Amino acid sequence: MISIIHTKTKPVEEVKNAFLKLMAQLNYTPSKTKVLLKPNIVDAVKPQTAVITDPKVIGGLILALKDKGVEEFVIGENSGFFSINQKNFQRLIKETGYRKMVDRLKKKHGINVRILNLQFTEFDEYPWIYGTLKLPKICRTHSYINIAKMKTHQMTAVTLSMKNQKGLLLFQDKKNFHLGYDGAGSLHSCIREYAKVIQPEFSIIDSTCALEGTGPVTGPENQTKVRHLNILIAGKDMIELDNAACQIMGVSIEDVQHLPKKKVNLAPGSEPIIPADPPFQKPDSYMKYGNIFLHTSPYGCSNCQMAFSRMFRKIMFTPEYIKKFQNLQQKYPRIDVFIGNTSITEIPNFENPVVFFGKCTKSIAEDLRKNFIPGCPPNHNKAIDVLFNL
Ligand code: SF4
Repeated sequence: MISIIHTKTKPVEEVKNAFLKLMAQLNYTPSKTKVLLKPNIVDAVKPQTAVITDPKVIGGLILALKDKGVEEFVIGENSGFFSINQKNFQRLIKETGYRKMVDRLKKKHGINVRILNLQFTEFDEYPWIYGTLKLPKICRTHSYINIAKMKTHQMTAVTLSMKNQKGLLLFQDKKNFHLGYDGAGSLHSCIREYAKVIQPEFSIIDSTCALEGTGPVTGPENQTKVRHLNILIAGKDMIELDNAACQIMGVSIEDVQHLPKKKVNLAPGSEPIIPADPPFQKPDSYMKYGNIFLHTSPYGCSNCQMAFSRMFRKIMFTPEYIKKFQNLQQKYPRIDVFIGNTSITEIPNFENPVVFFGKCTKSIAEDLRKNFIPGCPPNHNKAIDVLFNL
């Protein structure tokens, strides 16, 4: 059973009241007095981009849970690229507004809340179809609540509550998901099987604003747009919840390979499911950065995407590089960059330069004798060198 409620993100008391209603409609009270909240904080951007779970939604949820008797809150995230060192992680939580929200809850409401980088914590081992997964111990000691963001996604069609669980994984397992554990599975089968390994007590999809187009992050060429839905969706079953979200987005379940089809039941008092009109824009198969077309295979992971995006941001913020990039655009009308294990049949015989980005593409780069940028993921400064020497 799921429930949908209308809310704005301001004031935070409105969000709190919305959550109190949702929890009452779904008859949910945390089983423990300590809670792990797992939002989606995938990039160091503001919440109005619709790329991250809005910190004000988390703030309202914490206030509501405090009224339900929760005494300790941990906001946990492993966002891969930003989590592999603590300095980047601190930048992530500052720039997204999470640091400010937590400080306010502590000072104004005296709440016991902290933010935890899940790359650096203690782990339990969970057996699963592809071997053993290490997941944070805190998933067992605390009531685990999953708060995803409603977004379309270039590799998985959508990213909702099932996919948001990837943020509990260690950096190496995130890569393994994309590599399908050496081809034993695929990213889609990994997400589907993983949902059998661990389930939240309660799941929420922040759909106050949502992302459509070539998500899950915002590219430089208007390939994504923000939809203002002003709703929160919640339920105890991730699969049912993600089915409901797809109906709202106008996305066919058949297009979401990791998501089993399931009947959606609305809780008494829920708003109805109203499909978006027009449906959410589907992702393109590439991301465009000026004259560069970036292709990510289903086996490529977001660490290479983040490294590429970081490289591009550095170019755009360095006057000397801006000039070089302008020259590059004049020299070549198009450059194609590939991330992730890609088969030869997917590579057209381009007349313009082709660049393979990251260790996963080494053998195909060698076979085709094309440009290759090593690293897992590559260092963005080295990548800039290769690009400007084409
Ligand atoms: S080379 Fe890139 S895509 Fe491949 S595992 Fe490493 S970071 Fe991920």
